[in-house]
Amino acid sequence: MNRRSFCRTAIAASVAAAIPILPGCSKKAPVATGADTSIRAISLDGAELELEKAAVRELGESMTGPVLLSGHPEYDGARMVWNGMHDRRPALIARCMSTEDVSNAVTFARERELLTAVRGGGHSWPGKSVCDDGIMIDLSLMNTVSADADARRAHARGGALLNALDTAALEKGLVTTAGVVSHTGVGGFTLGGGMGRLNRKYGLAIDNLRSAQIVTADGIVRRISDQDEADLFWAVRGGGGNFGVVTEFEFELHPFDRNVFSGSIIWPIAEAKDVLEFYGGWYQDLSDAMYVGPAMATMPDGTGIVIMEVVYNGDPAIGEKELEPLRKLGTPIDDGVKMQDYMVMQTQEDVAFGHGVRSYIKNGMVSEITQDLVDAMIDAYIDDPRLAMFTHTLGGAAKRVGELDTAFPHRNAETMLGVGGGWMDPADDESGIAKSREWYYKLEPFMGGYYDNIDFDGAAAAGNYGPAYDRLRTIKAQYDPGNLFRLNSNIEPA
Ligand SMILES: Cc1cc2nc3c(=O)[nH]c(=O)nc-3n(C[C@H](O)[C@H](O)[C@H](O)COP(=O)(O)OP(=O)(O)OC[C@H]3O[C@@H](n4cnc5c(N)ncnc54)[C@H](O)[C@@H]3O)c2cc1C
Repeated sequence: MNRRSFCRTAIAASVAAAIPILPGCSKKAPVATGADTSIRAISLDGAELELEKAAVRELGESMTGPVLLSGHPEYDGARMVWNGMHDRRPALIARCMSTEDVSNAVTFARERELLTAVRGGGHSWPGKSVCDDGIMIDLSLMNTVSADADARRAHARGGALLNALDTAALEKGLVTTAGVVSHTGVGGFTLGGGMGRLNRKYGLAIDNLRSAQIVTADGIVRRISDQDEADLFWAVRGGGGNFGVVTEFEFELHPFDRNVFSGSIIWPIAEAKDVLEFYGGWYQDLSDAMYVGPAMATMPDGTGIVIMEVVYNGDPAIGEKELEPLRKLGTPIDDGVKMQDYMVMQTQEDVAFGHGVRSYIKNGMVSEITQDLVDAMIDAYIDDPRLAMFTHTLGGAAKRVGELDTAFPHRNAETMLGVGGGWMDPADDESGIAKSREWYYKLEPFMGGYYDNIDFDGAAAAGNYGPAYDRLRTIKAQYDPGNLFRLNSNIEPA
């Protein structure tokens, strides 16, 4: 995602609003005091519930990590999620430190039919990982990743962030597909599919997932893979958080030289037509090693720009040759493609997309970049520094996986096309959302389905999952018949 102006506008404010980083805590936190014997909460279907404080205390005593209630000094920090638009207050926050903690919290919630949110990295655009008056099962203290060079595997705990995954793998000269902002959670990212700058060569994150440990709604801890409970393993690869709480992900890693030919080329918006038309006729023949995709944005000074972000995962001399026709195009304002450490690209948007930014995004999947789509992109562009159009380039290995081999429903797409932006002032919400939608709706006729992970509004899961939906519903009925895990793009149990 390369939205330079959105990035720059967001920088100062996002630093000011950064989420407090809470230290790990292994001591038991007090869960409840006072004369009242119960806590008000809500059930899965929104009915009022009274939670016995004694039962909450018992949950706290069963866990290694703390259970936080409103008024606890860590409560406000723990309930905050990435998107500053969501200010919700769970009845309790179970800060898990082990798989057993997760199992205890899940059982507590299921037995009471308590509204349940599961927080990995907290980056859900619609804020699905936090709820009002329910339980938040918080995995953010379960955040470590280890990499095994001989086995070429990484093991990421359920609340790990992408930075930890990249860092652990790169230290061993290895890598796997991870997204473009490094404080995003491995959990939600992977369960929704997982697009990144290496997905043309190695596939999506789910294509590299070899096994997982999951706590299902019955509280049982399961190891799932192609050999073990294969239906459930199929479902979690694209089906989001519908099937349980994943406490560990096992990824395949690939040998990788972290010094990569990469960067961005920027042209003035007046050259957007030439650049996008060229791209539309060029991208189909690119090698899997070449990741390149367009974005359109406006700098804070009002200068409109079209950007191509490039990562070439291979011999730089070959990459340079492959990129040459694009570099020769028009009169770029800047050409920053050069040899640089992979983590420069993987972290370059971290501050711009800092915690607390108020952000709205919509997207759709595109199977072909036609002349009509290019014309629509030019026509739809809005010169507002808060907003941008961006892409996640797919194709290559991500496209060669069979449509129903995993639950991820968009294998025929060449790219994901997103529109939206971010701002800090709540007064900007209405116009920011309205303009994002205006821009997006002009492109919607060229889209089929959407990537649930990068969408504020979402739509009915049924339509988006296409032919995978019936199987997903059957598996949901088997592992979560009461729909405990419903704060996601929800799959109704069959
Ligand atoms: C700034 C930014 C950049 C992004 N860049 C990319 C990108 O490059 N590529 C890409 O594909 N996506 C990207 N995304 C989208 C991202 O993949 C989703 O927002 C994803 O849901 C984030 O996961 P999370 O764990 O941080 O989120 P959370 O808000 O914690 O969770 C999101 C959903 O997943 C569930 N969940 C999370 N962890 C677990 C778990 N361990 N077990 C079960 N359920 C779980 C939650 O219950 C919730 O329903 C980006 C998002 C943001 C905000």
